[in-house]
Amino acid sequence: MRDLEHRRALVTGAGRGIGRAIALRLAEGGAAVIVNDLEPDPAEGVAEQIRHDGGEASVCAGDVSNPVEAGSIVRTAAETYGGLDILINNAGNLRDALIHKMDEPTWQSVLDVHLTGSFHMIRSSSPWMRDVAKRELEAGETHHRKIVSLTSVVAETGNPGQANYSSAKGGIISLTKTMAREWARFRINVNCVAPGFIKTRMTAEKEEGDAVGIPPEIIEKVLRGIPLGRQGDPEDVAQAVYFLCSPDSDYITGIVLGVNGGLHM
Ligand code: NAD
Repeated sequence: MRDLEHRRALVTGAGRGIGRAIALRLAEGGAAVIVNDLEPDPAEGVAEQIRHDGGEASVCAGDVSNPVEAGSIVRTAAETYGGLDILINNAGNLRDALIHKMDEPTWQSVLDVHLTGSFHMIRSSSPWMRDVAKRELEAGETHHRKIVSLTSVVAETGNPGQANYSSAKGGIISLTKTMAREWARFRINVNCVAPGFIKTRMTAEKEEGDAVGIPPEIIEKVLRGIPLGRQGDPEDVAQAVYFLCSPDSDYITGIVLGVNGGLHM
């Protein structure tokens, strides 16, 4: 199905993992996709893959946590394809520590990328999403635009060692609900997807001597708690995001759609 023909989408942090799967899925659905990431090389690889598959894609590298860069990412995205219909806030980092060992930069850097980054992107998109929609409505046109932000199962369950991450992800849910109310009259649907335990570098097994990664015994324990019996793939998340970007979800706004195999109900 090519539900997203003539739609223009910006996906942040799309150089790898879940963001990459989302960019590929939106392009497969017919959208022209702007691939953002901090690092240009992986983003270019995703854009090349989309073009190779017959889709349309460009790269706009930059840091969503920086307000000036975020503004320029959105402006470039909108100018590249002449507008913006879909914004996906996916960019994310991790800096886990127990609270008694969590210093200010460790707390702040995760809040800055996930929560403040999503705020920057939504605010910067206002001229191309809110203002354009307002003019269209005055002219009698109704055209839905979509914002989907990636939260996490841990926003609702909590997770030891992730005070910064779970707080940022909880904030994204609150930001989403407020934006859903603020922009509903402009036919902008604003929703969240909350993945559970998905196979990406964020959940990779910690090997001897690694500073990051998850110890194998913790991975085992999480897997035992998933009723559907497997770890999720980035494509499982991309399908849920795709639904929230398609016309099939035009009457859905302000929700948190869990993609977790039953890990949290
Ligand atoms: P990942 O680390 O594989 O990908 C994240 C991408 O974001 C990277 O390519 C990175 O370069 C980019 N990025 C980081 N900081 C950035 C910044 N300031 N500006 C622009 N890009 C930036 O992670 P992933 O597992 O694919 O996670 C994607 C999203 O899904 C994140 O928001 C994450 O919190 C969320 N999530 C993941 C899981 C999981 O199990 N993997 C679970 C719940 C939620």
